[in-house]
Amino acid sequence: MALTPDLQEEARAIAKELAAIARSAEVLPGSLTSRRTRCGRQGCKCMADLPQPHGPYWQWTRKVAARTVCRWLTEGQAADYRTWVTNDRRLRELVARLEAIGVAAVEADPRSRRRRGGRRPPPQS
Ligand SMILES: [Zn+2]
Repeated sequence: MALTPDLQEEARAIAKELAAIARSAEVLPGSLTSRRTRCGRQGCKCMADLPQPHGPYWQWTRKVAARTVCRWLTEGQAADYRTWVTNDRRLRELVARLEAIGVAAVEADPRSRRRRGGRRPPPQS
């Protein structure tokens, strides 16, 4: 089943970008968030009239087997790995777009039979 020239071209561009990300080998799932905290101790700068909370502390959060797992990172680590997280997000966008192209291909396939207002019957050979 051939894609339209437009979609072929888009798929090639996606493949190129995917390859560049893969070559970098800098891909990290999850997200990075900075947190500022107050310890609550009397006289601490975090409790002053003009409070200066502690931190920022960096937290890397990801899902492992449907559970959220967190790890604290140093500021340097957060700076180093930020692009890795961005790469992972982009990678997922690109794969989702490729999948959408695949869906469009099946939808446009003349062998995909349509029937108004009902379920599609299975294709007949
Ligand atoms: Zn404090």
